[in-house]
Amino acid sequence: MHPFTLSRATNAVEAIKAHAEEPQLTFIAGGTDLIGLMKDRAIFPGHLLDINGLPEMSSIEALPDGGLRVGALARMSDVAADIEVRRRFPVIAESLLFAASGQLRNMASMGGNIMQRTRCAYFRDEDDLPCNKRRPGPGCSALHGINRNHAIFGWSDDCVATHPSDVAVAFAALDANVLVHGRSGERSIPFTEFHRLPGSTPERDNVLDRGDLIVAIEVPARVEGRASYYLKLRERESYEFALVSAAAAVAIDDGRIKSVRLAMGGVAHKPWRLRTAEAALHGALLQDLDTLKAAIATSFTDARPLAHNGFKVELAQRVALRALQVAGERA
Ligand SMILES: Cc1cc2nc3c(=O)[nH]c(=O)nc-3n(C[C@H](O)[C@H](O)[C@H](O)COP(=O)(O)OP(=O)(O)OC[C@H]3O[C@@H](n4cnc5c(N)ncnc54)[C@H](O)[C@@H]3O)c2cc1C
Ligand code: SF4
Repeated sequence: MHPFTLSRATNAVEAIKAHAEEPQLTFIAGGTDLIGLMKDRAIFPGHLLDINGLPEMSSIEALPDGGLRVGALARMSDVAADIEVRRRFPVIAESLLFAASGQLRNMASMGGNIMQRTRCAYFRDEDDLPCNKRRPGPGCSALHGINRNHAIFGWSDDCVATHPSDVAVAFAALDANVLVHGRSGERSIPFTEFHRLPGSTPERDNVLDRGDLIVAIEVPARVEGRASYYLKLRERESYEFALVSAAAAVAIDDGRIKSVRLAMGGVAHKPWRLRTAEAALHGALLQDLDTLKAAIATSFTDARPLAHNGFKVELAQRVALRALQVAGERA
């Protein structure tokens, strides 16, 4: 393994400054993704700055207005078990419980979770097959290689990878915000704009710059929050990343959909909102299966499957439909 030094941060301003000035420095929280990437020789940081000692970043706060503030250093297991998270936004708790394993969730932080990198096998391959995300330039091995687990939306010829986080799908559906401290102060990034599509720069997963520290994720109060559900399809029941997943949150009035939020995982380089379907579902009867199916299909007209993942187009629509139905039953 590449040699590196490790130090501990105690002050956020100093940590941000060090990150901005030292290109070889990487923040480490739980280390559950970072260390794996180093072992796979996908990244070679020279200096790890342990941020676990930074103050006021581990709390889980139920806000008086019905919203939620989750510190970036809160552990996945703590957030999943939090009574107010479960009550206000079951979709968040469920997306966390279906992610990774118990041991990993005890260690893994929320900030690290939304920063985790793709599980594309070429990206994590020690043999250094061409991968534009790993080292920009040589091409994308998955484009004409094995691409069963890859994107059907928003990909480019330079990268067809999907984003692996489950809870990111829930946050995207709920229009959460990522609170970031950077060199020029604090800013709030809408969750749906936090992760990027690959375009010609797939090495960049998100919009963060050097010197940016995620402090918290904020979820505004949502009328759809309580009637929400996360459905994840994976190759095995024990811990596994999503083949396809859906986060649904809905408000129902007299059996009809008053408002709905739908996002999908496993289909794109970022959590994928089904905005066209959300609009088409407005006013639909929850029991009217044909109308629900037709509305969801409106978000799939621009799906572009690859050679091995055509099945995802139909599967994703079924997963979205089922997630919506279960969320609706909770309303
Ligand atoms: C076997 C296995 C199975 C898994 N299965 C799933 C799954 O099914 N679903 C799922 O969603 N996840 C899954 N994961 C991923 C796991 O959830 C992540 O590894 C974990 O959430 C990362 O958090 P961490 O604190 O360990 O991050 P680290 O590994 O410490 O850091 C990850 C990245 O985030 C950056 N970072 C961390 N905190 C901050 C911050 N506050 N500000 C800025 N940058 C920061 C680090 O610099 C690093 O680049 C799995 C992981 C493993 C190993
Ligand atoms: S899909 Fe992206 S991550 Fe995978 S090989 Fe292609 S460039 Fe690399």
